[in-house]
Amino acid sequence: MAGRIAVIGSNNVDLVATVPRMPAPGETLAGTGFSTGFGGKGANQAVAAARLGSAVTMVTRTGDDGFGRDMRRNLLAAGIDLTHVTKAPGLPNGVASILVDPAGENTIVIVAGANAALSPADVDRAAPDLARCDLILLQLEIPLDTVYHTVALAARLGLGVILNPAPAAPGLDLSRLRGLAWICPNETELSQLTGLAVETPAQIEAAARRLYAQDLGNVVVTLGARGAALVTAAGTTAIPALTVAPVDTTGAGDAFVGAFAHHLAAGNAPERALRLASAYAALSVTRPGAQSSYATPDEFAAFLA
Ligand code: ATP
Repeated sequence: MAGRIAVIGSNNVDLVATVPRMPAPGETLAGTGFSTGFGGKGANQAVAAARLGSAVTMVTRTGDDGFGRDMRRNLLAAGIDLTHVTKAPGLPNGVASILVDPAGENTIVIVAGANAALSPADVDRAAPDLARCDLILLQLEIPLDTVYHTVALAARLGLGVILNPAPAAPGLDLSRLRGLAWICPNETELSQLTGLAVETPAQIEAAARRLYAQDLGNVVVTLGARGAALVTAAGTTAIPALTVAPVDTTGAGDAFVGAFAHHLAAGNAPERALRLASAYAALSVTRPGAQSSYATPDEFAAFLA
């Protein structure tokens, strides 16, 4: 039985150039291809969960431009409830300029646009619908005040929150995030959140334990091709990655978090939900793009078979 998920977060139009290698500072480099796609951590995670079958409502701001109109159509086509998707008057849609090299690694520049206008009042307007959800998914591509406000509202509503603390946000006040159910950083974000080095597996585990001790919920650290590490009161559990040939890792973290939310809201035990999320993210890195790389339940079942 699929669950109901609310995503309070960003949406971006991705402008993706493929390059033979990453350019040096000041260098002009001939790219080998170009495409546009739909992204943004909030929208990506919402689409991953919806594609797997969750009922997803999104609280987000689109731009007062063609990209904003395209984004609304895209979210609608993904089956997402648009009741709380509103236009930010006079602002451009969020965009992400992405370079992808032949190894599938990426570099990304994001301009927040309408995402910077997503306010605590927008979240309050959605509160009656949020109260009907099984959990809330949050990232850090929206104003931090809106993030803190959502965490406080979720506590009042008795809702669990999964926070993907991405991208790393200097100045994030961890004391205003107490009461999260889950926090899911990647290695870079874990290092930034704790101020600790994460070069070795032992250092990663120590940093994840330090984060866990800060009362921010259970910790899941995503480790790229090495899978993920789960830290709870019961200890640390390694979540393996599947071995795949990467084509494009853009949006792998979002595939992981969106799939984790889906499988958790559907009633799976956390460790099983994480194993399924790891497999879903592995499948996504074998396909180009972010949302375009997220599989349907049938495609995912075929991949696992
Ligand atoms: P991005 O910013 O590119 O979305 P991220 O840094 O947030 O990614 P990662 O830790 O790179 O997230 O990846 C998330 C999850 O995706 C990993 O925990 C793993 O399960 C899966 N994954 C990523 N890269 C690979 C890979 N090369 N092979 C298999 N699984 C992968």
